[in-house]
Amino acid sequence: MAQDKESASIQTALIHSDYVAPSGFESLAQAVHRASTVVFENVAALRSRNWQDKGAYTYGLHGTPTSFTLEARLAEIEGGKYCRLAPSGLAAIAMVNLSLLKSGDDMLIPDNVYNPNRELGNWLASDFGISARYYDPLLGGAIADLIQPNTRLIWAEAPGSISMEMPDIPAICQAAHDKGAVVALDNTWSAGLAFHPFDHGVGISMQALTKYQSGGSDILMGAVVTNDEVLHRRIESAHMRLGLGVSMDDAYFVLRSLPTMKLRFEAHDRNARAVASWLRKRPEIAKVLHPAFPGSPGHDVWKRDFTGAAGLFSVIFDERFSEAETDRFVDSLKLFKIGYSWGGPNSLCVPYRMSNIRNSWTYQGQLVRFNIGLEEPGDLIADVQQALGHM
Ligand SMILES: *Cc1c(COP(=O)(O)O)cnc(C)c1O
Repeated sequence: MAQDKESASIQTALIHSDYVAPSGFESLAQAVHRASTVVFENVAALRSRNWQDKGAYTYGLHGTPTSFTLEARLAEIEGGKYCRLAPSGLAAIAMVNLSLLKSGDDMLIPDNVYNPNRELGNWLASDFGISARYYDPLLGGAIADLIQPNTRLIWAEAPGSISMEMPDIPAICQAAHDKGAVVALDNTWSAGLAFHPFDHGVGISMQALTKYQSGGSDILMGAVVTNDEVLHRRIESAHMRLGLGVSMDDAYFVLRSLPTMKLRFEAHDRNARAVASWLRKRPEIAKVLHPAFPGSPGHDVWKRDFTGAAGLFSVIFDERFSEAETDRFVDSLKLFKIGYSWGGPNSLCVPYRMSNIRNSWTYQGQLVRFNIGLEEPGDLIADVQQALGHM
């Protein structure tokens, strides 16, 4: 019996300890606060606390100091007031759609949108009684003609992350406001650094933190930022009802990467413009699709509204090259790896079959997208040059 009692008490001591670490610890690192259960000091506190009140804690899903800190810092970057994290960029897109749309509503999506956004739109249209219609991303203010009384949400992406057309966000927002629709911008390309969405009339900014905020090709996370309290409350409810919690360890890694994000972004921008400039002079390339270069669709809008560019751009090969030949180009690259996503230190390259992902597409040549990483641009150019020789 004595033996049992002692082992029971050790068992309990493994769970309950009297030790409390001294307070007053200060370091430069954000602490990782992990939790499902949050403990209340008494029943009155449990009964009175509201999960939507960010002045206190209720349950891990709604946040801990780690996620609250990341949300606050992301809102600051974009000039927003409110932010909610989601477990991926795509989950953030879904959170926006499900917070705003109900059956009978209509949504407009740019034809160059990040393809899983389109997949979700088509699913909402086929199974949930929401209409999803696609618009020419270069339409600008003429989008007014497409806005119906039931059009609740207009997505924009600046630029489309494969075909790189830069939309006129202020003109789209003006038309949307005139007709009572909300504009949600996928602002991932600018990382919130090169474009300030709320200065241009955007209602909701969505970020794939998977890209520059993480910066390591090792985290999936998304964020939705807004200045509008009513929109925020809807987003927050969707976040809760769908259970879109994030890992606090992952939130920590994003917080750890934020201080270097602007320096990385600027280095990606410089390197990408160096590689894109070189490609513009090559006879194999019919067109470089990079918003910072004259002739790229929406370049004037980029020049007017943006303070920088990301490391992502695409090229259209001359029509004389078949898909097999441009595939051979991609396969011959050595420094560039073949893979989706972007924003990490490694340069990446992906060929796209545009007719599979667009309603309307005019170029005949093959499209190949580059994510320019943080390698020495001269080495990247040499790699592209040798791969062009293998076509
Ligand atoms: C990557 C990406 C997303 C989705 O982010 P995930 O975290 O991979 O789900 C959304 N929009 C754009 C423009 C992206 O590049």
